[in-house]
Amino acid sequence: MSATPFLPFTRPSIDEATVSGVAEVLRSGWLTTGTHCRAFEAALSAYFGGRPVRVTNSGTAALELGLALCDIGPGDEVITTPLTWAATGNVIARRGARPVFVDVDRRTRNIDLARAEDAISPSTRAIMPVDLAGLPVGREALYDFASSYNLRVIEDAAQSMGANSNGRRIGSAGDLVSFSFHANKNMTCGEGGCLVVSNEAEAARCERLRLQGMTRDADMNMEIEEISGKFNMTDIAARIGLGQLSALDGFNARRHELARRYFTTLEPSLGLEMPVADFEQSNWHMFQVLLPLEKLMISRGEFIRRMLALGIGIGVHYPVTHLFAAYRRLGWKDGDCPHAERIGARTVTLPLFPAMTDADVKRVCESLAMVVREAAR
Ligand SMILES: *Cc1c(COP(=O)(O)O)cnc(C)c1O
Repeated sequence: MSATPFLPFTRPSIDEATVSGVAEVLRSGWLTTGTHCRAFEAALSAYFGGRPVRVTNSGTAALELGLALCDIGPGDEVITTPLTWAATGNVIARRGARPVFVDVDRRTRNIDLARAEDAISPSTRAIMPVDLAGLPVGREALYDFASSYNLRVIEDAAQSMGANSNGRRIGSAGDLVSFSFHANKNMTCGEGGCLVVSNEAEAARCERLRLQGMTRDADMNMEIEEISGKFNMTDIAARIGLGQLSALDGFNARRHELARRYFTTLEPSLGLEMPVADFEQSNWHMFQVLLPLEKLMISRGEFIRRMLALGIGIGVHYPVTHLFAAYRRLGWKDGDCPHAERIGARTVTLPLFPAMTDADVKRVCESLAMVVREAAR
């Protein structure tokens, strides 16, 4: 009997041209921010319809820069979703502002803008929505909401590279848009990110804030008007990103095919709650189902262990932010965002990445069916 190979929940696809491109950068004598970062920014800008783009060393950094560009700080409130990677709430809190968590829509699992009205206060300055799993928050409703309360928008589009809202590519319109090129995202630099801004003045400020707030004149005199940190990308990472960007549309097309296959192969009788079957706008960053835990004799943890024993990696994205200890100390508690809490407690991420085969999807579905049937009450 041959051992079944392990199937992770995600894995990046890096082509050989990118591998040798990185080797060239390593031999070039210049590793930090340089010509490859500028080339990557130009390619990203073209992808986003010509808007100015600045690359960063992470998606988190791009979000922090976005908040800094909006001058968000102590005393300010930023509306966001609790059903996201911890970075979203953390960047707001780290600027000294208060993250205000609004519950999600049960179906889309994204921030429920109808509820966001109740979260508005005189201190509300901005909204930071997240396109969970690559399913975009509707941008028309989002910007209608933002303009009626005079809010800046920092789109946490970390997961929605290549997705669109009503035919409009995410990043090609709107206020500030932040992306992540973390190793698990639809395209990667290893670690990296970028911020799409509105005009060249904002881009220039972003560039200063990206590296200590420093400016230099022609005589190499240095000046700092605004203190900042270190958020710049390396040319090594940018070279990976350039290779990934040209493959992105192909990656996303394959993700769509695999997601469709999950919909046709997963048995409805298992009682899983499925994601929205959106093949127009989503980039299918993740395929997430909710386990019918009340009908099972096992916990989510045990489900994950049993899948692992069958050679299948399962992810959890995400436990809700507002119930982490540090956020409870800010006053958040159980029941504040009931839909998000319910989803966060039972969501599992099934394997989905471009190099997966159709047979892999079948194997995941069969293993999942076996584990759920065996555990049924
Ligand atoms: C990945 C991610 C981030 C952070 O990106 P990093 O590159 O890991 O810093 C922020 N928000 C969301 C929703 C993410 O998925």
